[in-house]
Amino acid sequence: MEKPLLEIKNLSKSFGVTRALQDVSFSISKGTICGLVGENGSGKSTLSSIIAGMQGSDSGELILEERVFTPHNISDASSQGVSMVVQEKGTINKLTVAENIFIGKEEQFLVGNLISKKKMNEAADSVLKLIGAEEIKSEAMIDELNFEECKIVEIARAMENNPRLLIIDETTTAIAHKGRELLYKLIKEVKKNGQSVLFITHDLDELQMVSDEIVVLRDGCFIGKRVNQNLDVQELKAMMVGREVSDN
Ligand code: ADP
Ligand code: MG
Repeated sequence: MEKPLLEIKNLSKSFGVTRALQDVSFSISKGTICGLVGENGSGKSTLSSIIAGMQGSDSGELILEERVFTPHNISDASSQGVSMVVQEKGTINKLTVAENIFIGKEEQFLVGNLISKKKMNEAADSVLKLIGAEEIKSEAMIDELNFEECKIVEIARAMENNPRLLIIDETTTAIAHKGRELLYKLIKEVKKNGQSVLFITHDLDELQMVSDEIVVLRDGCFIGKRVNQNLDVQELKAMMVGREVSDN
């Protein structure tokens, strides 16, 4: 068994009376693609946004490669190797593609007191090339792009960081064939490099195609983890809707 990259320990989070996460514990191994499923409202986005530093938990902890991991914000998580592509639109319209990819990291392009747009654009072009999306131009404004292209820019932003853990929250729901293929290819490459992916989708065919192991959440609770090989889809569905006894 590979060493865990990330251990999620007894994580809980409430919004008023809604218990979005209740004592959730599981781990993600190095070099694996961990699928995360559950009905709408089961806590998938809450869990992933805590891991990505977008919000804190009420209790519990995260351990990243044997160290306590408490990201204070997205940049903090990203600098420690955890990047996320969010479920909703995550790009800023009034900025260019390059500015979106390097948001919060502009300092690396300082020449004297000024940020060199040329250097930033070149760096953005090479990230876009790396992920196989060279048709998106670094100088383009985000509002000139369609939703799928914006998602690809977000994927570039997440990959720019060479993350140890890439979190993808239902991105494929909103994108069509080209974007999906690009994403599947990228996920495989990330895995080949020994990095891990937390892949959230509610498309069970896609889940089975992409994941090594699958974690099920229901009503904010961890229900179980299964190895994808020889997975029984009926069992998975039953776990999601609650016709099965929890093995936690
Ligand atoms: P999923 O991603 O699995 O659909 P979420 O994590 O988005 O589920 O939501 C889990 C529960 O927490 C839902 O009941 C949702 O309405 C609630 N919730 C999530 N975020 C917030 C928030 N910022 N404020 C209030 N309730 C929230
Ligand atoms: Mg969600």
